[in-house]
Amino acid sequence: MKIPMPNAVNGHLLNRAVLVLNANYSPMMICTAKRAICMQILNKVDILANYKEKVSSPSIKINLPSVIKVRDFIRYDNLSVDLNRKNIISRDGGVCQYCGSIALPLTIDHVLPKGRGGQDSWDNLVAACKPCNQKKGYRTPEEAGMHLKRKPKRPNRLHYFYKYVNNQQQEWRPYLFMEPFKIN
Ligand SMILES: [Zn+2]
Repeated sequence: MKIPMPNAVNGHLLNRAVLVLNANYSPMMICTAKRAICMQILNKVDILANYKEKVSSPSIKINLPSVIKVRDFIRYDNLSVDLNRKNIISRDGGVCQYCGSIALPLTIDHVLPKGRGGQDSWDNLVAACKPCNQKKGYRTPEEAGMHLKRKPKRPNRLHYFYKYVNNQQQEWRPYLFMEPFKIN
């Protein structure tokens, strides 16, 4: 099946971020407007909110979607975040959790060192600058006299969506539980 996509004139609009909700309205992911429109044309999603702009081609004119909901429930652990270097640094705001430095490159520190039974887990891994990581070495923060800025824990995916919300994405806020729905 050939999908009559709006043309490249609308290229920048087609890259606009779209919030994708599961069939039960839980926030699931962010995709491009281009992908959202494809799913819309294939009748796989319902449109819950649009941006003000429209995209058009000779054969089709479509409101630029902002929030969409899939029609068939997708089994998906929607609030889990993969444990990896990038996501640990993102959770920690790109800041060394010992001294607050943003000196790059940040390393990943095992709070309880791995060789002493420390796990690869959200509550035992933190972003640390190289000097802090070296200073701490094979010790716990207490032994090294270093203090964590905050207790590390598993992040919630909602934080990831919050980062996207800006003036263009006011429509997203109720769906991310950032404010109540307005009842007309
Ligand atoms: Zn540091």
